[in-house]
Amino acid sequence: MTPLTYHRAATVQQAMQLAGVAGRRPLGGGTNLIDLMRKGIEQPSGLVDVSGLSNQITPTPGGGLMIGAATKNSALAAHPLVRAHYPMLARALLAGASAQIRNMATVGGNVLQRTRCLYFQDAAASRCNKRLPGSGCDAHGGFNRYHAVIGGSSSCIATHPSDMCVALAALDAVVHVADRGGERTIGLVDLHRLPGERPDIDTVLEPGELIVAIELPRSPFDGPSAYRKVRDRASYAFALVAVAAGLEMRGDTISEIRIAFGGVAAKPWRALRAEAVLRGGPATSDAFERAFEAEFAHAAPPEGAAYKIELARRTLVAILSKLSGSTQ
Ligand code: SF4
Repeated sequence: MTPLTYHRAATVQQAMQLAGVAGRRPLGGGTNLIDLMRKGIEQPSGLVDVSGLSNQITPTPGGGLMIGAATKNSALAAHPLVRAHYPMLARALLAGASAQIRNMATVGGNVLQRTRCLYFQDAAASRCNKRLPGSGCDAHGGFNRYHAVIGGSSSCIATHPSDMCVALAALDAVVHVADRGGERTIGLVDLHRLPGERPDIDTVLEPGELIVAIELPRSPFDGPSAYRKVRDRASYAFALVAVAAGLEMRGDTISEIRIAFGGVAAKPWRALRAEAVLRGGPATSDAFERAFEAEFAHAAPPEGAAYKIELARRTLVAILSKLSGSTQ
């Protein structure tokens, strides 16, 4: 047992001060961090409990929502404004974990959870550049069925595990971050990094920065939206492939569309190329196929995850067909 200190922050300022000591880590619900500490993957010298900071969900003047980072996943999924205006987010949260975990996990912690790559989780016997930079990557040439098909590198092909973040990416969510100078904002799609040569760095957050809220802009859809997750078993498991999508039709034309993928990359993958192909055009299977091809033209799956390409294609076509009311 490694000794560590515990501190509970009552305010953001206090949290920043307490977490500013080298080796300390913010603690939300602990549903990921405590697991990683038990496995010896994370070894903080102290924990700064930020679960008592804002857990409020409040409407913004622009018609969106401001969500305190300490909001529980269960509270967010059940909130009437989320269910009414951001149903893809509610569905992603419900698909993401059991009720017990949703009752503990915070929104801020969900965003920052770490990959479930089996080799990353196996500190005793596996090489992993994310866990120990420069040590190698046993997923390359190993068991890589759950790994990334796009945006990976020779250093790392891990995927990001969050369902919630996939919906947030599609909804253009904005992350509010406290730093020593005050506060800054980062688009959710820009928060997580692709691995490149530094897979050990998951996000663009600077040391000492703390996520304090997630802002949702006004929902872009009056029409339908959905979250579809494909996994190995019906009970809770991480996504093989997930798609968050929403669209607006004007007559036979797609006037607005949002698409994000989960389970395919080290970050929630906003499909801007696919959206560009579809926006202003017809909602047909051919168009959905072309959009997929545009988005995944540069996919480079490892051998074990090659099946994800076809799985992602079929999932996208199926969800867009359903949302647009076309056949399938
Ligand atoms: Fe580690 Fe990434 Fe390789 Fe998994 S894929 S073993 S997380 S470096």
